[in-house]
Amino acid sequence: ADTAQTDLLDLIAQLNSDPAVHGILVQMPLPKHLDEQAVIDAIDPDKDVDGLHPVNAGRLASGLPGFVPCTPQGAIALLESAGLTDMTGLKAVVIGRSVLVGKPMAQLLLERNATVTICHSRTRDLASQVKDADIVVAAVGRPELIQGDWIKDGAYVIDVGINRVEGHLVGDVQTEEAEKHAAAITPVPGGCGPMTVQMLLENTLLAARRQEETAR
Ligand code: NAP
Repeated sequence: ADTAQTDLLDLIAQLNSDPAVHGILVQMPLPKHLDEQAVIDAIDPDKDVDGLHPVNAGRLASGLPGFVPCTPQGAIALLESAGLTDMTGLKAVVIGRSVLVGKPMAQLLLERNATVTICHSRTRDLASQVKDADIVVAAVGRPELIQGDWIKDGAYVIDVGINRVEGHLVGDVQTEEAEKHAAAITPVPGGCGPMTVQMLLENTLLAARRQEETAR
């Protein structure tokens, strides 16, 4: 909490230039006196294993290789492992438009030829959007905002939300009711969280391999 912005930027510069360091992640949120965007911008995009640097966001939007944020990458792996390997023509609804989850999630689904709708706090009639979706990704941070009976029969549901309610963790989806309709649904906790960690390790390995190749 008492770290100065210049000290943090100096540390990142040092890690950027250290060949023994392949990946850098700055755990957000930062204390209020630190400028988060300036800190993200300071990370070498080739060591940005969190995929948050604007260069990596731009690469993803342009369909170029880079680093993809870990949570949406994990969500795609979960969909595929549940048997949804071909998303062509499916209607995907992503609720949430953060740089960390919602936007990259939509890009990844679009890359896989889904027809993607992004919903947010100003969306009108969220229920009707969700009711029509073959794939639902909830990344909002509002406990059980997505009602179970909104889920279409046979839909695949990724619940990214983590909300603490009376000492318990709950997601953004009313799991108990949604389970009656969904083909597959992620639990909270124990769904997207562990996959995010795995994807961080995968990105770090990828970064190491790319840097070793460049160094040769
Ligand atoms: P965020 O930056 O706060 O974004 C939340 C998004 O939800 C915003 O786009 C917001 O819309 C939208 N929203 C808010 N209220 C809404 C409503 N009533 N109807 C529709 N949309 C609404 O959050 P985030 O960083 O993306 O994280 C979302 C959730 O996922 C949080 O619970 C977080 O803890 C969790 N999370 C989990 C993992 C994991 O590993 N499992 C990783 C990252 C995040 P506006 O843009 O209009 O404000």
